[in-house]
Amino acid sequence: MGGSWRIGRIAGIDVYVHPTFLILLAWVGLAHYLEHHNPAEGLAGVVFILALFGIVVLHELGHALTARRFGIRTRDITLLPIGGLARLERIPDVPWQELVVALAGPAVNVVMAAAIYLGLMLGHGIAPIGETLGVGGRFVEQMFLVNVSLVLFNMIPAFPMDGGRVLRALLAMRLDYVRATKAAVAIGQGFAVVFGLLGLFVNPLLIFIALFVWLAGAQEAGLVTIRTALGGIPVQRVMITDFRALGPEDPLSLAVNHVLGGFQQDFPVLDEDRLVGILARNDLAAALGRHGPETPVAEVMQQDFVTADPREMVQAAFERLQVGHCRTLPVVQHGRLLGLLTADNLAEVLLLQETLREADRPRLFGMDRSSRQATDEVSIVPGDRVPIQRPDAGSLAGGRGREPSSFGADGPSDWGGHSML
Ligand SMILES: [Zn+2]
Repeated sequence: MGGSWRIGRIAGIDVYVHPTFLILLAWVGLAHYLEHHNPAEGLAGVVFILALFGIVVLHELGHALTARRFGIRTRDITLLPIGGLARLERIPDVPWQELVVALAGPAVNVVMAAAIYLGLMLGHGIAPIGETLGVGGRFVEQMFLVNVSLVLFNMIPAFPMDGGRVLRALLAMRLDYVRATKAAVAIGQGFAVVFGLLGLFVNPLLIFIALFVWLAGAQEAGLVTIRTALGGIPVQRVMITDFRALGPEDPLSLAVNHVLGGFQQDFPVLDEDRLVGILARNDLAAALGRHGPETPVAEVMQQDFVTADPREMVQAAFERLQVGHCRTLPVVQHGRLLGLLTADNLAEVLLLQETLREADRPRLFGMDRSSRQATDEVSIVPGDRVPIQRPDAGSLAGGRGREPSSFGADGPSDWGGHSML
């Protein structure tokens, strides 16, 4: 997450802390100090928050290390004031695996709570419940409550919180994956509304959790829809084959004529038959202002570009299109340019596929396979820009610890009307 500081590395996973977290620490310390007029109380507040987030890190490690057993790496764990965020490179799309990964985090807290409970029982007998629950309870008892609260809150079935992932996984065992996701997201957004309303009256930090649940859920639903719709379609079925190309010596004015003529936005540049560059619309506009319309295309085109193979799956090409600067991917085989794949034409494919799917018609472009199979074969490549966020929001004892999560770094990006993580 942008602007976060690395504080360490556990089990090969970098742990970051967001600067706003320090504001939370300072705020809690100050609030405790002002309440009790005692520096020791202020320090105790800070220690409580640090211990709390230590527990959150262990919770996140529960997810991350379980995901690792399924071959899924975790990019990093970030501590935000609203909780921890483990960014898995992908969410397992095999339902039972998602179920296990989602349960692993709360399971860590269950184990810790049980251990503390056992320790307390062996130590001095079980304290009366009222004493344990009291605000003035001992530190160890507070940690017991923290663990219990983390389990209870995270198991609320508000997708994409842990409980919501459990729900999606259970639904996906019976339903089509897209339908299961949409149902889980709808239920999650219902909870988001409740969180938002409670936030207005109880704890304003709940409003930020509501926003997070709402947005992250919608993003993941969009992602799943796209992956499923694009699964099993080879590039050559959907690429544009009717397009204009330019020569390296052509003036930019020729490209302008083509753009105005409505042919396309980005142009492949061919030297004889060889693809030597891509003239992107943005570069064209910038160069026109700087150098004038007679400038040869070769001076402006991008020579460093990625291509697609006609036989590869659209899903894989789509990932590269997302990463690249250009909105057009030339489709090349044996050095020959066969077609173009653009963000716009993929949006058309999605729209058509989705329409057919909702009408329960056979798929238009790919083999007509169940979406379950289609999603099984796709995986999100590391280093792409589709990070999956696993929020762990928890309303904690005393109402501490909820603040906005930053969507800046991984925010939704519009693409053909779908928002993506
Ligand atoms: Zn969790």
